[in-house]
Amino acid sequence: MYKIEQIRKDFPALADNLDGKPNIYLDTAASAQKPQCVIDKICRIYEHTYANVHRGTYALAEAITTEYENARQIIASFIGAKQDEIVFTRGATESLNLVASSYALNTLKEGDEILISEAEHHANLVPWQIVAQKTGAKLKIFKIADDGSYLQEEFEKALNPKVKIVAITAMSNVLGTIFPVKEMAKAAHKTGAKIVVDACQSIVHKKTDVMDSDCDFLCFSGHKLYGPTGIGVLYAKADILQSMPPYQTGGDMVDKVTYEKTTFAPPPARFEAGTPAAVQAIGLGEAVKYVSSIGFDDINTHEADLISYFNEKTAETKDLKIIGTAQNKGGVFAFDFNGIHPQDLSFVLSHEGVAIRIGHHCAEPLVNRMGYTSLARASFGLYTSKSDIDAFFAALNKAKHFF
Ligand code: PLP
Repeated sequence: MYKIEQIRKDFPALADNLDGKPNIYLDTAASAQKPQCVIDKICRIYEHTYANVHRGTYALAEAITTEYENARQIIASFIGAKQDEIVFTRGATESLNLVASSYALNTLKEGDEILISEAEHHANLVPWQIVAQKTGAKLKIFKIADDGSYLQEEFEKALNPKVKIVAITAMSNVLGTIFPVKEMAKAAHKTGAKIVVDACQSIVHKKTDVMDSDCDFLCFSGHKLYGPTGIGVLYAKADILQSMPPYQTGGDMVDKVTYEKTTFAPPPARFEAGTPAAVQAIGLGEAVKYVSSIGFDDINTHEADLISYFNEKTAETKDLKIIGTAQNKGGVFAFDFNGIHPQDLSFVLSHEGVAIRIGHHCAEPLVNRMGYTSLARASFGLYTSKSDIDAFFAALNKAKHFF
């Protein structure tokens, strides 16, 4: 039994009043609130276990290095990977740029193709545009349905032996659509492509297993997974990581340095130049432990319940149009309400304590493809409750009278 009230107590921000209004936080797809255990862990490290990692041999340095590498192990187990297949980055954006710069720029050539969907975040679009410009490879975009569903026939039509990289979101941050990564990886591998999975949204909503899905690369950001900002993860299969040159160079990523020449450390150190965001990585490890302690079975049941409640309320609300109604979707709802400009809507909702995201959601071509220049979006986390949804609909109905 999902104890939502208990879970909400783990997140101090949810108990805050903002200008006398409760904090109705419906912007978890942008960034999640943090549980007390993550906040405490970060404080404890700074208070009692702080030093640089991988450098000193004194007790504090060894203690934080152990914590940092433990976090890597916790995250590896969480997604079914091996410890040395986990590279810490600043976030999903940096992870994708790392793959584009280190892997794609060094392997793609003119005539090759990169295949992405219409539903990609800029972080999984712009780096591939740059790779295409620099290598002469072609960037191809496969279509999704008007309701935001994945279209297998469109994906398979676009696949051919020239496609060397398929880069795909596992869950759209605008439409909520969940893409069948395992099937897509199988099809991509059949024609000889590598698959890069942007799991930024999906990692929060469903169990991720890189062994089972057989993806070649997978990335996500800590801050969406109830962890700190400034930390992200790149998973890559060990043999691929070993074949990749460094992305950045400097301290802590070397094997031997002379004035003339440098040899590089094996992965993951090869890709973690400079002082890493060790405290944030440890905080992310704690967040992963927290999510695992609740478990995806319960998280998914709770989310399915919220989604059907939200859908029922939507059906009762005149002039509310959800953009992205795929059967297989997570708790992310972009919407148009009676043509009210999203910025005006957000202003009124904010007055009621309701936080939503507006704009192009860093997926401008997708928002345009759905027929809009700007959309409002409500999104759920594991702490979202039915009363949040009630408050959202009450605020929407109020907003109607302003315009
Ligand atoms: N991919 C998706 C699907 C996202 O939703 C986001 C963030 O909104 C990103 C990538 C980029 O994440 P970050 O800004 O944390 O690097």
